[in-house]
Amino acid sequence: MNTLTEDLHYISERVNHLRAHFNSAQTRSYEWRVTQLSQLKKMLVEQEQSFLQALASDLAKSEYEAWTTEIGFTISDIDHTLKHLEKWMKPRKVSTPLIAHPAKSYQLPEPLGTVLIIGAWNYPIQLVLAPLVAAISAGNCAVMKPSELAPACSELLAKLLPKYLCNDSFWVLEGAVAETTEVLKQKFDHIMYTGGEGVAKIVMRAAAEHLTPVTLELGGKSPCIIDNDCNLDMTAARIVWNKWMNAGQTCVAPDYVIIEESQSQAFIDILKSKITQFYGNDIKHNQDYGRIINTRHLTRLVSYLAGQNIVIGGEHDTQKKYLEPTVVLDPDLDSQLMLDEIFGPILPIITVEKIADAISLINHRAKPLALYVYTKNTEFENYVLNFTSSGNVCINDGMMFMANPNLPFGGVGSSGMGQYHGQAGFDTFSHLKTVMKRSTLLDPALRYPPFTEIKLTLLKKLL
Ligand code: NAD
Repeated sequence: MNTLTEDLHYISERVNHLRAHFNSAQTRSYEWRVTQLSQLKKMLVEQEQSFLQALASDLAKSEYEAWTTEIGFTISDIDHTLKHLEKWMKPRKVSTPLIAHPAKSYQLPEPLGTVLIIGAWNYPIQLVLAPLVAAISAGNCAVMKPSELAPACSELLAKLLPKYLCNDSFWVLEGAVAETTEVLKQKFDHIMYTGGEGVAKIVMRAAAEHLTPVTLELGGKSPCIIDNDCNLDMTAARIVWNKWMNAGQTCVAPDYVIIEESQSQAFIDILKSKITQFYGNDIKHNQDYGRIINTRHLTRLVSYLAGQNIVIGGEHDTQKKYLEPTVVLDPDLDSQLMLDEIFGPILPIITVEKIADAISLINHRAKPLALYVYTKNTEFENYVLNFTSSGNVCINDGMMFMANPNLPFGGVGSSGMGQYHGQAGFDTFSHLKTVMKRSTLLDPALRYPPFTEIKLTLLKKLL
């Protein structure tokens, strides 16, 4: 029995409208896809100021971060897609075994239908629009549900997208748990969810009702290994950049650092000087440093610090939703700080006797979304690559791998399933229909009864 809440009727109506429109086949053409992608880019260019304002309002994002990680990131995703779309849409030829000759075999990408995109609050524009770029490129209709925790961005997307995109093909649903619960009751052809593990299970359960495939872009505790054999100064700079961007609220931020005990003090000293170099002495009033999304998350983060050995920072201001870049040395591995994904500006440093001990520490936990290793030692690099599992790895830097659209992005195990960005996104939102076209010139009797011994001998030779 469908327990449809009366005043949420509009959700099923809108989804049904999109589904009916998809059946009209208008979204399939290359031209339609190019038009929608170009319109999306036009929106980002023309409305840049409105997006910057919304991101500043929700997360106090600086213009630099807002442009590079949200607006500019999505524009370059669109450009890359437009450049390669024709090629991605082409049939992908595969060889045909002798037994099936004469024939042609290929995979034909086709749109899945109407898809649901659920975004998270930390990159509230990019995490809705990058999946949308992939969905459009594959020729789908889409419902987007931005996160209610970033209300200015959610409202802006709901206001602007209908002005630029085809309203029969796309719809922005605003709302929180009630609306998401209701939209998840609808039948979709694919769901891409970005967010935490708890809600991911709700999404997957709802999807199972309709046998809808899901892509889950989740998080987890991404480790960062610092080998003795590395450029410590550059390592610290890159870690500060990666960790304190968006005040640590990045799914691929290093969650914790592992370093040999003998190196830890030198690393802390450089880290401290890099933080000051990048953010100054009055970080609270520095426009380049973001704010925590809400007081609930700030309280959660501050609670992690109780009883910890804070070696850098630690100050907070609840009213301003501010938490200073904070470093904790050797927290109890069973403390909440080391059990939860931090998702904020706190960096624990775990010291080990030998850096090789990092492997068992990492493998003791769920598979992370990203893993970072700073080393000049190729043998150690290979050791880490071969003995750990993670969605993504970057050697000698932070989240730079995100800048390469040729690298599919996604988690493994509890950090997610499925991938997107670039062609991986196109493939995620496409069905690669297999096609075999047989010739009618020949029709050997080999496969037809009556089955003789000679036929079987010949067949065994052909297979
Ligand atoms: P969130 O609170 O914004 O929730 C995500 C979405 O789930 C929202 O649209 C929200 O409306 C919906 N939702 C919330 N509760 C629901 C419920 N009970 N039923 C149905 N829908 C519900 O985001 P979050 O979960 O706080 O996001 C943080 C997590 O997301 C972190 O773990 C982070 O690592 C991960 N993340 C991953 C990526 C990635 O690309 N892999 C990117 C950003 C964030």
